[in-house]
Amino acid sequence: MTKTNAERDRQKLATALKTNFTSGLSAEQVKQRQTDGRNVLQEEKPPTIFQKIWRHLSDVASLVLLFAVALSTYLAIAANGGWTKTIVIGSILVINVLIGMYQEHSAEKSLAALKKMNIHEVNVLRDDHTQVVDAADLVVGDVVLLSGGNQVPADGCLIAATALRIDEAVLTGESEPVKKTAEPVAETAEIGDRINEAFSGTGVTQGTGQMVVTAIGMDTEIGSIAGMLNQTKARMTPLQKRLNQLSGRLTAVAVVGGIIITILGLFFQGEPLTDALMIGVSLAVAAVPETLPIIVTISLSHGVGVMAKQHVIMRRVDAVETIGGVNVIASDKTGTLTQNQMTVTQVWAATDSAPSVVGKNPLQEQTQSLMRLMGLATNATREKIQDEWIEIGDSTELAIVRWLATEGLTRADFEQQAPRIAEDPFNSTKKTMATLHQLPDGRALLIVKGALDRLPLKQSAKEQAKTSRIHDQFAHDALRVLAVGYKYFETLPEAPIEELQRDLTFAGLIGMIDPPRETAVAAVAQAREAGIRTVMITGDHLETAKAIAKQIGILRPGDQVVTGAALSQLSDQELAQQIENISVYARVSPEDKIRIIMAWQKQGATVAMTGDGVNDAPALKAADVGIAMGITGTEVSKNASDMILTDDNFETIVAAVATGRSVYQNILKAVEFLIGVNFAQIFLMIFAVGIGWGAPLIAEQLLLINVLADGIPGFYLSREPAEPLNMKRPPISRQTSVFADGLGQRVAVRTGTFILLTLGIYGLGRFGLTNNDPAVGMTMLFFTLALGSMVDIYPIKQRSPLSWQGIAKNPALNAGVLLAAGLVVSTALIPGLREAFQLVTLSGINWLIILIAIFIPSGILELNKRLQRTKLNRPVILEED
Ligand code: ATP
Repeated sequence: MTKTNAERDRQKLATALKTNFTSGLSAEQVKQRQTDGRNVLQEEKPPTIFQKIWRHLSDVASLVLLFAVALSTYLAIAANGGWTKTIVIGSILVINVLIGMYQEHSAEKSLAALKKMNIHEVNVLRDDHTQVVDAADLVVGDVVLLSGGNQVPADGCLIAATALRIDEAVLTGESEPVKKTAEPVAETAEIGDRINEAFSGTGVTQGTGQMVVTAIGMDTEIGSIAGMLNQTKARMTPLQKRLNQLSGRLTAVAVVGGIIITILGLFFQGEPLTDALMIGVSLAVAAVPETLPIIVTISLSHGVGVMAKQHVIMRRVDAVETIGGVNVIASDKTGTLTQNQMTVTQVWAATDSAPSVVGKNPLQEQTQSLMRLMGLATNATREKIQDEWIEIGDSTELAIVRWLATEGLTRADFEQQAPRIAEDPFNSTKKTMATLHQLPDGRALLIVKGALDRLPLKQSAKEQAKTSRIHDQFAHDALRVLAVGYKYFETLPEAPIEELQRDLTFAGLIGMIDPPRETAVAAVAQAREAGIRTVMITGDHLETAKAIAKQIGILRPGDQVVTGAALSQLSDQELAQQIENISVYARVSPEDKIRIIMAWQKQGATVAMTGDGVNDAPALKAADVGIAMGITGTEVSKNASDMILTDDNFETIVAAVATGRSVYQNILKAVEFLIGVNFAQIFLMIFAVGIGWGAPLIAEQLLLINVLADGIPGFYLSREPAEPLNMKRPPISRQTSVFADGLGQRVAVRTGTFILLTLGIYGLGRFGLTNNDPAVGMTMLFFTLALGSMVDIYPIKQRSPLSWQGIAKNPALNAGVLLAAGLVVSTALIPGLREAFQLVTLSGINWLIILIAIFIPSGILELNKRLQRTKLNRPVILEED
């Protein structure tokens, strides 16, 4: 027998790669080859420690500090002013950079841990067995099995392909999937023309195939263009962008203010240039919110970590914020809202007068032949291996296989009698699946199973009416209905299976129950309370969808249900007008999801959308938050998503929203906590210098307050547990200003309080308790501001009136406050530090005044909180346990 070209080529390839296409590589070979490196794309080289230091040093806050260091160094040398200032400011600069780098490092570490969770598994033939391995462990020569929904894990040459199509848009930009073949083709460099090869990072949209791996990791095509796939990407969130703008503006104010103060000092108060400059620099230092950007970063990465514990893998850090702001969750039904545990409960063979309940009566012949047809047209398998049932396949088909098993029947028995010749696979757009079988008598049998309305049946009007009546009866009971039809051919037809599906004889219906997840009802109610609309999107029949949606609480009186067919009749504008009334979309295909997303977005909504199939990828990308299923989802859908649910559970989405919201709130609390003090410091400096008191605080003192006294406790605001009202308020639009919802007013009150308090204390210390001793005024002012602003973290961290539970609830923050307070007080107690910070020893009465003063701003904030609540007409809710 002569060999075909294809076989010869294949053999050459096997020899070249030292592999065997029928049994795969041996474990020994794999081990040897793994020493050549792993199948991973190298990420951008991490910055070196010097690059990191440089990045931190080159931000505006550090530049201001560097200028202060330079100036004090000049003063030390030129004016013989001593080195203390240089050392203190320099140390604070170093501490600021170190804290920034440490926090950044822990944020990077938690993201790296997350990437590890996001592993990509592949089916590979090794040692004559199909094994599931981590794609990173693939080696050249491995034989990989591909099927619809897989992401191609490496570059390879196809050695088998059945109806295989691959979406290569990531590499070629071509959106139409490419039909692949295992036949040799003329060699070409164009990726799009290399149709007998599969490339890493591309997605199998349909069919099955096998490929032998020819290149891994950075040697692949995607590696050569350094495409980064499957990674948690850090993009700036809208809030981060707005806060950066805010910091930028504050810094600009600081610099301009600094210049004005310097000029004032120089020309109007006759200060020497260096002193005037130093005061200007102090003001600039006061106004820059040094720690805010880092606090935002760690809050987001902390959110990513919390979500990982809640079964959510965040693929993009900015999605932590976006998920907190969603108004609409559009969820698939099967598996997300329901348990994905389908069980056949009702059966009706067309020749029977009425349906029967499964398992109630002895098996009738008609039912048995219906079971045979269903079994033959099914791909799911169920095998007992070492006392454990291993089930492979989609839940609908597994229900059929289990149903057969209750009557002692198996697919294999049927297939022995009627081997399968061809298959037209199921997909969610056409909602049917067909198989063609060779019968022992030479005839061929075509079976089509799927949605009743999609089956091309040959039925009289009367038969049709009866069928649809029984179908609707099943669907009313929330059952998924599967119909089956068949057709005999005298000989094996030559036409492709797609063209044979006409004039089928109707065989019957089965109804299967898939109970709602117990947690879904509560989660939908919780979402509603949080101002979030849940809509159900399903491929199932309208009546089934309605019944389940009612059980779960998604469909409520007055809500509309729309089918895919009705949806296609609506213009985009009509859909946008009606969208808010529609709660359930039935018999839709994945392609319809994009229209639903866009219509909601047109109404200004932020939409989270779930998806699991290959065809869901575009919708997952179009949604504000695309959510893929970790268990049942295809690799393609996971790659298109922003977050993955590792438990496929709707409740988890709502939990992620809650976390997203509390992260957002915690960032706002950090803004409130830090910015108020910055504002107070700016006005205090300008006012004091303006009235001729000179600078009431020096740069070192301001820095100690901003970086340590407020900075350290501020970090732990990211750990603050959610407010009790977190999920009882409507979502906050991403367009809303940072200062909305009373935050601006609270910052103003706090700023005002601190300005008056600190000026008062300074005046008291300098003129009341001493005879014009600025050092006493300065020392009293320093401790009042440093400790007072720190105490404020408590009224700020809790939006409801402060309680003991509220204070106790974040131990890390309490430890941070104690540490920061300890550092501040040590400047009074340790003589060297005291001098370095230009502080003086205070008397008992002075301390008593400070002790009372530091609680005044918190008291006023609490009072303001209560007034604000009454004004905003919010109930004063006491902290819940
Ligand atoms: P949901 O959209 O609710 O999450 P789904 O994605 O499983 O569910 P589809 O896959 O679009 O929905 O299925 C819709 C219809 O297709 C079902 O009502 C059923 O009639 C039919 N169907 C589902 N699975 C199969 C299958 N394996 N073979 C044939 N028909 C099927």
